[in-house]
Amino acid sequence: MLSPSARFSALAFLAIVVPATIVAVLGYVSIRQWEASSELLYREQARDMAAMAAEKVEMTLRRSEDAFLDRVQAALRSDAPPQRAVDDVLAGSPLIRRLYLIGAKGELLYPRAWKDGDQAVFGPLLSETAVRRLARDGKREVIANNQVCLALLTGRSGEPVVAAFVRDPDTLRREILEATLGTLESSTIIAVLDHEGRTIYSRAPIGDAPRLLSVGFRERLPDWRLAVYQTPAGSPRQAVRRQVMLFTAALGVLVAVIVAGIVMTWRLMRRETEMARLKSDFVANVSHDLKTPLSVIRMFGETLEMGRVTDEGRRQEYYRVITREGERLSRLIDNVLDFSRIEGGRQTYDMAPTPVEPLIRSTLEAFAYPLAQQGFKVEVSVAPDLPDVTMDADAVGQALANLIDNAIKYSADDRSLTLDARVADGRLVVAVSDRGLGIAPEEQAKIFEKFYRVGRSDTQGRRGSGVGLALVRHVAEAHGGDVTVESKPGAGSRFALRLPLGGA
Ligand code: ADP
Repeated sequence: MLSPSARFSALAFLAIVVPATIVAVLGYVSIRQWEASSELLYREQARDMAAMAAEKVEMTLRRSEDAFLDRVQAALRSDAPPQRAVDDVLAGSPLIRRLYLIGAKGELLYPRAWKDGDQAVFGPLLSETAVRRLARDGKREVIANNQVCLALLTGRSGEPVVAAFVRDPDTLRREILEATLGTLESSTIIAVLDHEGRTIYSRAPIGDAPRLLSVGFRERLPDWRLAVYQTPAGSPRQAVRRQVMLFTAALGVLVAVIVAGIVMTWRLMRRETEMARLKSDFVANVSHDLKTPLSVIRMFGETLEMGRVTDEGRRQEYYRVITREGERLSRLIDNVLDFSRIEGGRQTYDMAPTPVEPLIRSTLEAFAYPLAQQGFKVEVSVAPDLPDVTMDADAVGQALANLIDNAIKYSADDRSLTLDARVADGRLVVAVSDRGLGIAPEEQAKIFEKFYRVGRSDTQGRRGSGVGLALVRHVAEAHGGDVTVESKPGAGSRFALRLPLGGA
């Protein structure tokens, strides 16, 4: 059978470790899944964006080239000499670096002569067959790795004319690529690669950023690709790492809260168990305390009733014992009732200016018999000019009675009781000192707790319920004061009740 604390530890283990592990595993699995799906989504978005960007480049390029070809076509049909008119069109089209116009039979119509060996490149492309092919396949073609573009136009009298032109790479980069891709909103790097994979344009330095994907252009830039690179900041991995950190922190907080909760529950449980034990001790102690004076009263009462005591002096003595034990019973019951009122928050105090010395003397008076009987040496020193102090005289009297009762109870061979009252630091200090058993330093704070009794063999035999000092402290605090103890085991104790002169 496990002890309660071992059971509690096993339970706590089950309550913390098992749920925390489940949460951690579930969290890990869902974060991994989330990472995979966000990576996929990220790629899809990047692909869509790349396709859209490529389409945009293609469109812009087509629009400028169409406009250029329209102007060349218009020049061919105009009345002006074609050489001059086409020269003008070329001058206004920075995107086109070079243009050749060839007739249906392969003859050069514009310019008058081939430049820098262009004939070697263009010549074979611009034959009769080329014209036929263009006429058949859609009048446009880009060949020789985007180097040369061909288009079919018509001359003044309707004859086919092939226009072959070469783009200016700088203008292409600046006015087409930069103008369309530079304005795109994206956390990735977009680049345009030529047919050999060389970077023609990139929106930001690529460095060693990993390539996410690339898409091809269509007919205007065949063999060229638009590539998307991942920047570290835009990566979903970064977001996942942040999420993992957040999750770990949340898990840490969760475990800390559970641990704190369990520690608090454990402490509460221990307190409750201790309190239950103290309460049951209290009931046993109070019953015992009530029984002793009652049996004394009964015994003396019966003896008197039987009329066997003839000596008047003895009879008086018996009456005194009955009265004294009765008073002790009243004190005990008052203590228990007041304590229960305090616990229930129902205790009220009647404050009134009270002369201190008469209160001290009348309280002490109630103990005259036990003090005398046990041979106590009693000293009372009250400062002569004590002012009246605002207080509940009954409550303070009762607190004082508890201190005197304790001094008597916890005295051994050296029986001495000293009461002194004076004003110190603007407060009334009433101290009760004995030369009895004393209290160990580690017990001195605890003795003011309710039900607490020092469990030593030398005090265990003495009557008591453990609520006396709790009551004294409560009365002191209700008056805005406090109670202190100075004590040395074997040398005695001094309890001081300190109350403000004007009341609470
Ligand atoms: P009770 O006297 O009914 O046990 P108290 O609350 O009055 O309860 O006191 C709590 C404990 O403090 C006592 O059990 C006792 O051990 C210790 N104590 C109180 N007064 C004295 C004293 N004058 N000398 C030594 N021990 C004392």
